[in-house]
Amino acid sequence: MTAKVIDGKAFAATVREKVAGHVARLKEENGLTPGLAVVLVGEDPASQVYVRSKGKQTVEVGMNSFEHKLDADCSEAELLALIDRLNTDPAVHGILVQLPLPGHLDEDLVVNSINPAKDVDGFHISNVGLLGTGQKSMVPCTPLGCLMMLRDHHGSLSGMNAVVIGRSNIVGKPMAQLLLGDSCTVTIAHSRTKDLADVVRGADIVVAAVGRPEMVPGDWIKPGATVIDVGINRIDAPEKGEGKTRLVGDCHYVSCAEVAGAITPVPGGVGPMTIACLLANTLTAACRANGLQEPDGLTA
Ligand code: NAD
Repeated sequence: MTAKVIDGKAFAATVREKVAGHVARLKEENGLTPGLAVVLVGEDPASQVYVRSKGKQTVEVGMNSFEHKLDADCSEAELLALIDRLNTDPAVHGILVQLPLPGHLDEDLVVNSINPAKDVDGFHISNVGLLGTGQKSMVPCTPLGCLMMLRDHHGSLSGMNAVVIGRSNIVGKPMAQLLLGDSCTVTIAHSRTKDLADVVRGADIVVAAVGRPEMVPGDWIKPGATVIDVGINRIDAPEKGEGKTRLVGDCHYVSCAEVAGAITPVPGGVGPMTIACLLANTLTAACRANGLQEPDGLTA
């Protein structure tokens, strides 16, 4: 079998188009422009790239983008005061604090100081609790993107066996909650799981979110299963020239694609969906804040 490739880049483009259409209607019919504030502390190069990309895509779908940059040695009080201002600013519907923060800042404290209704990353403890109890919440962007791709491919996920490899708060755990919400039978595997290969072999859906290059080989995959590879790992690529690198996922793409029914590539799979879902969450937050109907198909 050769797997169908789930094209996350194309899917993300359709999500952005849908968001842009809704934003245009909100502006015209309600005089409302959704706004996303992104807070960056320090000069981490990878974070700067992410923040730039988020700002650019926010503007492209017609929303307002507000960027706030603080020095790496800014005090916690300064950061909390900024979040406080954004929490009460009616032009700001979504707030994202780019993680990781410099070590002297308490990430949990900072994240939990964001107004949960504006917490478009879905990391606030209230949103975690709401998701865990099956209530309306802001859903973390990467798992939301994975869920959208799975629903698009399968229609109903009800009754499927899903194995999520990785138990992080930002991917693994919320992913498992979402799959449970869609009536999958969910197993969360992690670094201490025994006989991981056997666990994965029972899965109709495998979501790998580990951060270990190509750790899932094709012979762990049940024939016809759907493989969602969240991992983004940079490895040496001497075949491209000295000092060159390339990105790979947590799954060994070639061998998994021979067995799976569908698979997301790395790059071009889950990655592009994350920012698209951030935009979707910002639109959802703006609709909720103004008592307007939420767009269909852009939330869990
Ligand atoms: P994390 O380090 O917080 O969590 C990794 C998890 O993997 C842990 O729960 C750990 O128990 C588990 N694990 C480690 N070794 C294992 C092993 N040998 N077998 C089974 N499980 C093992 O990582 P994270 O933040 O969840 O990210 C995971 C990967 O997803 C990374 O490669 C990251 O870059 C990527 N990621 C991608 C996106 C995106 O596409 N937009 C977003 C977030 C994370």
